[in-house]
Amino acid sequence: MPHPRLGQHFLIRGSVLERIAAAACPTPENLAIEIGPGRGALTEKLLKRAARVIAIEVDPYLAGFLEHKFAGEPRLQVVRADVLETDLAQWGHAAIAGNLPYYITSPILEKTVRLRFPRAVFLVQKEVAQRLAAKPGSRDYGFLTVQTAVFAAARLLFEVKPAAFHPPPKVDSAVVLLEPRPADPAMGDAARFLRFVGQCFRQKRKTIRNNLAGIYGKEAIEQWPEAGLRAEQIPFEGFAEMFQRLQ
Ligand code: SAM
Repeated sequence: MPHPRLGQHFLIRGSVLERIAAAACPTPENLAIEIGPGRGALTEKLLKRAARVIAIEVDPYLAGFLEHKFAGEPRLQVVRADVLETDLAQWGHAAIAGNLPYYITSPILEKTVRLRFPRAVFLVQKEVAQRLAAKPGSRDYGFLTVQTAVFAAARLLFEVKPAAFHPPPKVDSAVVLLEPRPADPAMGDAARFLRFVGQCFRQKRKTIRNNLAGIYGKEAIEQWPEAGLRAEQIPFEGFAEMFQRLQ
């Protein structure tokens, strides 16, 4: 029985599994890390494209199932662990893939983009995928977009309907590709920069002036060309520029 609390919606459509594996490993890879392998449907496809696969599964029943299913496959290592407690960098450079458990999508994204892996391909809620790939000025552009853009360029690859899963989730899904991008020198320390971005988005409907004047002083912010804009209208580079002005 699928475990409802662990976000277990298994992909049953072969073409979707194939496309995720191909996006994660467009050319043969030495190593792929899979987050939440479940019953191993995506794992099988990844094993065709990567010399080794490390599959991290928290549910002991499913981990046992996988060990049994792939007993004759020395190229697969099943790791019985919570992905959020696992040091993913310990295996070195790897392509990352997963049909993610939706209840922990944000912490998984936050953790993986910071590692600057060559590529991560995740199946997530469509709404999250749209926020990750959103352009400034669009409804979906927000803190999550900028937080991700600090480390990675995000692209929505394709959408997946609930019927592709068993049991079907209540929401539409989509596959996103995340590729590392070089750090912007204007950004400085990422944690401090993101605190600043958080202040800019504090009240989404308010202008930069209104969100920042209380913290940095009205005079300083009033001069800025962005003072009358809302954070959702400002591209990533704009935040880096504003942040630099405050240094
Ligand atoms: N990859 C499989 C598929 O597509 O059919 C299963 C995907 S299912 C949406 C999510 C998987 O993540 C489940 O197998 C679940 O047990 C596992 N999972 C949930 N929380 C986890 C965690 N904290 N660490 C590792 N795996 C987790």
